[in-house]
Amino acid sequence: MFSYRHAFHAGNHADVLKHTVLIATLRHLMQKEAGLTMVDTHAGAGLYRLDGDYTETGGEAKDGVIKLMGALRPAEGKAVSSTPALDDYLDLVASFNPSGALRVYPGSPFVMHQLLRTESRDKLKLFELHPTDSRTLSANIAQLEAGRQVAVAREDGFEGLKPLLPPPPSATGSRRAMVLMDPSYELKSDYGKVSACIQEQIKRFPTGTYLVWYPVIPRPEAHDLPRRLKTLSNQAKRPWLHATLAIGQDPTHGPGDRPGLTASGMFVVNPPHTLKASLQAALPVLLDVLGRGRGKAQSLDTGGG
Ligand code: SAM
Repeated sequence: MFSYRHAFHAGNHADVLKHTVLIATLRHLMQKEAGLTMVDTHAGAGLYRLDGDYTETGGEAKDGVIKLMGALRPAEGKAVSSTPALDDYLDLVASFNPSGALRVYPGSPFVMHQLLRTESRDKLKLFELHPTDSRTLSANIAQLEAGRQVAVAREDGFEGLKPLLPPPPSATGSRRAMVLMDPSYELKSDYGKVSACIQEQIKRFPTGTYLVWYPVIPRPEAHDLPRRLKTLSNQAKRPWLHATLAIGQDPTHGPGDRPGLTASGMFVVNPPHTLKASLQAALPVLLDVLGRGRGKAQSLDTGGG
């Protein structure tokens, strides 16, 4: 337990997919006046250096956000044409890098904080269990001086989520929440915990928007997770969206090299009605730019409701 550190992976293709979906979802939810409760059950450290010890001048981001930024916003030469969701994602990342060079990558807590509206309308609750990452997260959040709008807890996010839903009513009386569930899946039990937790929360708060990230790896639990999430969303008559991105094998890798993570998926329960069109435009561009070799693919599927 706890050998996973997100700093090694910050800005990789999985973060690009996850954070593009997160931003597109929040943009839509923020169009309504009423306050929104946001929960990040597995928050990580919040901010990552792309030129630090963990990432060896870009690390996995070289096949993720750095490659995407270079293709869609090249310093010179012809740009690959972008889409509104990818522009939104790259604008947000660029806002953390005012000098132009990509040195800092915002993890999900900072993505959410960036979109949070002031006047205490929205709330952000962050859970992180790793002792070092949780300390770093608290220190990073403290710099924002966000006051009571943002809270960090060094607690199990699966358990910590329970008392937060249903969220308190906003001034207009409506209850609104969005949950990002993004475990490291270091433990096989995380897969079962994710589906059990989503099932329970859909019962407690059926109208919440739930975003689940998962790795596409040759493990039965990983294959089963999106299937289980579809089944339980269908049983609860909730609409869902499922997007995957596989960048394929690295053609420079030899037979003995470890392939690393090449594919991941996002499952969204109660997605905004605009999300499908946003991703229909964005996923082919992501595949075109980030796809490397054998096995590259993208998919988008919706149902339920
Ligand atoms: N959501 C982050 C982002 O997008 O920037 C990345 C999170 S990373 C994939 C998963 C994190 O969950 C790790 O930092 C790990 O220490 C933490 N973690 C693992 N088990 C946990 C648990 N039960 N509750 C809360 N955090 C946990």
